Formats: sequence, C-alpha cells, structure tokens
Amino acid sequence: MSQPKRYTITTALPYTNGPIHIGHLAGVYVPADIYARYLRLTGHDVAFIGGSDEHGVPITIKAKNEGVSPQDIVDKYHAIIKKSFEDFGITYDNYSRTSAPIHHKTASDFFKTLYDKGEFIEETTEQLYDEQANQFLADRFVIGTCPKCGNEESYGDQCENCGTSHNATDLINPKSTLTGNTPTLKQTKHWFLPLDKHEDFLKEWILEGHKKDWKPNVYGQVKSWIDDGLRPRAVTRDLDWGIPVPVKGGEGKVLYVWFDAPIGYISSTIEWAEREGKDWEPYWKDKNTKLVHFIGKDNIVFHCIIFPAMLKAEGSYILPDNVPANEFLNLEGNKLSTSKNWAVWLPEYLEEFPGQQDVLRYALNANAPETKDNDFTWKDFQARNNNELVAIFGNFINRVVVLTNKYYNGVVPEPAAFSQIDEETLAAVRAYPDVIESSIERYRFREAGQELMNLARLGNKYLADEEPWKKIKEDEVRTKTIMYVALQIASALATLSEPFLPFTSEKLKKILRFTQNDNKDSQCHAELVEASQWNDISTKEVLLPAGHQIGKAELLFSKIEDETIQKQLDKLEASKKANEAANKTVEPQKDTITFEDFTKLDIRVGTILEAEKMPKTKKLLKLKVDTGIDVRTIVSGIAESFTAEEVIGKRVTVLVNLAPRALRGVESQGMILMTETPEGKLIFVNPDDTTASNGLKIS
Ligand SMILES: [Zn+2]
Repeated sequence: MSQPKRYTITTALPYTNGPIHIGHLAGVYVPADIYARYLRLTGHDVAFIGGSDEHGVPITIKAKNEGVSPQDIVDKYHAIIKKSFEDFGITYDNYSRTSAPIHHKTASDFFKTLYDKGEFIEETTEQLYDEQANQFLADRFVIGTCPKCGNEESYGDQCENCGTSHNATDLINPKSTLTGNTPTLKQTKHWFLPLDKHEDFLKEWILEGHKKDWKPNVYGQVKSWIDDGLRPRAVTRDLDWGIPVPVKGGEGKVLYVWFDAPIGYISSTIEWAEREGKDWEPYWKDKNTKLVHFIGKDNIVFHCIIFPAMLKAEGSYILPDNVPANEFLNLEGNKLSTSKNWAVWLPEYLEEFPGQQDVLRYALNANAPETKDNDFTWKDFQARNNNELVAIFGNFINRVVVLTNKYYNGVVPEPAAFSQIDEETLAAVRAYPDVIESSIERYRFREAGQELMNLARLGNKYLADEEPWKKIKEDEVRTKTIMYVALQIASALATLSEPFLPFTSEKLKKILRFTQNDNKDSQCHAELVEASQWNDISTKEVLLPAGHQIGKAELLFSKIEDETIQKQLDKLEASKKANEAANKTVEPQKDTITFEDFTKLDIRVGTILEAEKMPKTKKLLKLKVDTGIDVRTIVSGIAESFTAEEVIGKRVTVLVNLAPRALRGVESQGMILMTETPEGKLIFVNPDDTTASNGLKIS
C-alpha cells in the first residue's frame, strides 16, 4: 500500500476472566499504542480499537466455580482491564465489550449474511457429550491428547503446547473437565465454516502476497497450517452464554467465541463512529484503509486464517495489511502463568511503582518478544531504568533545564554563529524522525525505542564535549549557543518520546512550556510555544525560540534501589514455593489396621509446663508436660521450628503409652503429636476448645 488514507488498528480483545499482566502489555498493547500515537503525531487518520472478549467457555467455568453469574465475572474484569489500559496510557479511540448490544447485533447480522449467502455447511454430527453434566463438551470443557504433538492436556479447541487449532472430536482420550468422565458421542446440529473452500485464496493472499512484508514467525505458522490442509470449523456451540444463533434451528445454541470476538473490532468501530458522528464503513471497507491487527502468537490462526476467511466470505470488507504477532514474554526464565500466579499484574505494579508507567512501558518494549520468546527480569528492569532512563534521558534533560535556569533565569538564550559540531549535531537531530519512523513502519518497536534513547545519548555527548559549565567562565557568547542547541535537542525529545514514554513526554512539554492537551486553555502560562509535531523535528529551523521562558527542573525518573528489586524477587519466590506446596503429592494411605490396633494407642490432652533446649543438639527440646495422669519428661524434635519460651503453656496432644526411650541421655516418656507442612514448618496438633482439660482421652 503506497499512502493509506486512514488506519484501523486493532488489539487482541483481552479475555475477561482475570486482570492483565506484563506479558499482554509487552506482546500486544504497548507496540499497538506506540504505533497509534506515532501515526497521530504524523497527522494520520487513525481508529485505534479495542474491547473485552466476554463470551466463551472459560468464563462460564469460572462463574460456576465462584458461584456467580458469567455476567458478574465479565463486569468485574472488564472494569479492571479497562482501568489498566487507561492507567498505562493506552490511547484507544474506543474500548468496547462483546456483551454490548451493538456487538450482539453486529455479530448476529454478520452470521446471518454468511448464512444467507450459503457460506456455511449445516451438519448434524456427533459431538462429545457429558451424560452426567447433561451437556455437550467443546473447547475448554474437554481436555485430551493433542493429535499433533501428543500433549496430554490439550483443550478441545486449541493445544497450548503446539498452537494447533482443532475440533474437540480430534482429541485422543478426551475427558470432561466438568466431571472427569469420558464423554460419549451425541448428535447435534451445527454450522461450519468450510475453511478448505478458502484455501486457494489464503494461499494467494498470504503465501504469495505477503511473503516479504509479514514477520517470518507469522508467515511460517500460517504456511504450516495451510500445508497441513484446512478443514471445516464449527462456528456455533451448544452453550447458553454467548450470542444466540440467529437462524432457524439455532435455538439453545450460541456463536463460537472465536467467531464473534474478531467481529468485536467492527462493532467497537461502529460504537466509536456513532459517538463521534463519523461514518464507520470506510475504516473497514475502503481499500485505501490500512488494517493492522496486533496480537500474540497464540491468536495467529484466528487472525490470519479464520477471520480473513469470514471477511472474504462476507464480501464487502478489506483484509488486514499486516498482523505483526509477537512471541511470548517469560518472567525470570519461566512461562507466565495465571494459575501459578507467576506474573506481574498491572494493578499491582502501579501500587508498588506509582507514577512509573513509563519505566515499565520502556523496559517491556526494550525486551519485547518480537522475533522470539523473551525474558523479563527485574534486574533488567532496574538496569533499563537506572542506566538508560535516569542516566541518559533524565540526566540530559535535567542538566539542560537546570543550567538554563541557572545562567539565564530560564530564558532560552540567543545563539551566535553555529560551530561545525553544532551544525552536525542539529543535522543528526533532524534525521531522527525518519530513523525512528523506518523502524516503526517495519513493526520493529524495540529498535525504534533504542533510537529514541540514542537521541538522548547524542544530547548527553554534546554537553559532555562542549562543557558549558566550564565555558560559562571564559566565553559567555559561546555558552549561549551551546545551551540553545541543547534546548533544541530537548525539544525534539519532548515530541519524539511521546509514543514510547507518553507520561514523560507530557512532563517534559510542561517543563519546556509547550502547549499540550491539558494546558491549551490555561491562562497561567502566557507564553506557551506550540509543541512540534513529528515531522517538524526534521523541517522546522527552530523548535524552541530564543527569548522563550521555560519552567523549573523536575526529575523525570528516579533511581530504583536494589531493595525494591529484591522485594519483587522475594514475592515471586513466595509464589513459587506456594505453588510447589500446592502441587506436592499427598502421601499414600498406610496399610489398614483394626479397631483393636487403634485402641492400643492412649492419646491424651496435655499442657507444656517447662521447656529447655537440649545442650549440643539442634533439634531437641526437653519438655515437662502435664498429661493429667502425671507430669513427665518428653524430648521433642521441634527446636528448629520453636524456641523453648514459645512453647511454654502450649496445649498439646500426647501419645502417653509409647515405650520410654533415651534421647541423648534423657529418658523421653511419650510423644507430642505434630504435623509438618510441605515447606518443613512444624505445627502442633491440639484440641481447639480450651475447655478440654489435661488428661482427657482422644479416641
Ligand atoms: Zn499440540
């Protein structure tokens, strides 16, 4: 596409059964927001579209487990997710939800159009059925062995191990996730999208048409699916949560979540256009519109095969120009996992790093899994902040603003003639919009972010070489020129940083006293200068004119200390331990005993009266215990979990008729009953009612 007239940018609809974490932000939302902000700064017509995906089986499972309705689940997480996007400066033009009436209507109409055109196969087939739960099993209601990779825990619609998308009946050894039963087969009618019919078109459009411009990871996955041969896919389900199938015979059935979710991009665009008094259709139907889907690699099949086949079958829509899917982000070497709580959740991050959204955006972008799975580590996060944002970007801006205030009371000085170094530096600054743009246009956002930092490096080097703090004493005229040049670099940074560090860009514009959204109408700063647009950096002679008054210095970033990072690492370590404990297998039951065997044990309630550590031992405490029968000595191996002082007065359960034995020269007359957690922590087993007096029998 030569020069698109407008852009429609979509981001994967987050699934509303939990909050979002750094993996989502790095893979989809930060790159999409960089792209949208950059396009707006370069004067393009952009519709940046998102929304929550609120249908499908996992939501109904979560609702069932928590004893609430699916609507309760989606209402809760839609609000949390939407707020996270706002908090992190993701500048959607519209953020909708698939439970909205506009979406139900749009998806329903879309289905009917395809139905009327005869684009579906209507078929009664045998589907997996759980007799006990009285329910058909599809998608996540069933797990079994993936026919492609052998993963024994593949879901009914997709294998998370190899990414293959399949029908539930393809699974080997299927099991119901509702009851654990092996399902039976039962007849039911469904509508299928014959993907095989679209194979030739997909081959020509992607394998021929997008060989050069699509990312190799995306192209490779698509090619492998097409090479394996495409088959009809059911687009309806026997479920009660979702969009009702709007045709005869569809009673009690809903649209498959992966049929309705991508239509959510269209309905969200319609919602936006209606609100803004615009026409939505050009954003989806004009061939001069560039449509780009930002997604993670697990969604490639739906955005590159199924949704395009739906759009093509409908007939009036454009197809995506690109689908720059990212690979996965790992956390400290392990796969991000909601169920194992191995994640950094966005609401939690903001609580612990208030006001530091840009640091996370920057670190995630610098490590984005653009070409392969990548790792987020807290050490790297700290290093990106301390060594780049603080030491390079923040340091440069701070020196420029502080010196301008110190030497000239904050007034941009009048430059004299430029030296060769000045000319070269200003020429280099003018080249940056193109350099960054070229990376962004190829969806290389990491590289683009590093180029932005290179511009700050250029500023730092200029100041270090020219040393205005020395020259001020010997050459005031030259110092003015140096500071003028440095202020031009700072101004360029204020504009070019906006897509990457939007909160910092805003602060910087305020310090330099540029006009911006939130102070446009304000009367308090009489002399604001209009902020430069992206292309102005290359073309305008002067970005910040001599005589302009700037504001006072304000720290843009602050150093993150080792303790702060250690706290995060400790938190992850605690998650790991808790998870290991939860997964630790329970010891198998011992051989059966008779009641007579049991009655041989004489177990009593007792109280510890005295306790002292046994000399030269690590584990042993010597206790005096009132058993109700007598006061006796018991040696107990609990000294690693309890101090002697802690256990005095403790009520305990004692096996009193255990044959006495000598431990380190002390005769122990019985045993205190304890249990041990998987982490090795000892816990007393004692009666929870304090009226149980010493000597009472336990039977
Ligand atoms: Zn698999």
